[in-house]
Parts: sequence; C-alpha cells; structure tokens
Amino acid sequence: MSNVKQNKELTRRDMLFGGLRCAALGVMGAGGLAAALKRKKLLREGKCLNNGICPQCHVFADCGLPRARSIRDKNSERSDG
Ligand code: SF4
Repeated sequence: MSNVKQNKELTRRDMLFGGLRCAALGVMGAGGLAAALKRKKLLREGKCLNNGICPQCHVFADCGLPRARSIRDKNSERSDG
C-alpha cells in the first residue's frame, strides 16, 4: 500500500517539475521574443542598439542607421583602393 502511495507521489512530483520546466522554457522563450521585438522596434525608430559600437554589433551588416552606413562606406573605400 505504501509502495503505491510512494509511486503516486513520485508521479505528482514528476508532473510538478515537468510543469515548472515547461513554465521556465515558456518564460525564456517569451523573454527572447520580447528582446527580438524590442530590437526591431528600436531599429525601426532609428535608434542604435549597441551604443554606436558598430564593428562589434550583430546587426552591422544590415543596419540602415547613418553611423553604420558611414562606416561600411569607409570600409568599402579602403578595400577598393
Ligand atoms: S550597427 Fe552601429 S548604428 Fe547600427 S545598431 Fe549597431 S551599433 Fe548602432
């Protein structure tokens, strides 16, 4: 009898941890999505994401802000000759 009760408790514990694991994954996913949406919103509004440190910025290649375009132009002029 106590063996059955212990198995039920383990199952409840497993379900609880499984639920918590799923909730944690959901929170992390929502956080990542919120960060991505915020980045897109800032770029759409013409605001810099990385304090103007373009060469280390992960959106440098696609960034349309004046600072990034200027640096890309200078880099292409140097590489052309
Ligand atoms: S590439 Fe430069 S200007 Fe564009 S978001 Fe990044 S740091 Fe700001």
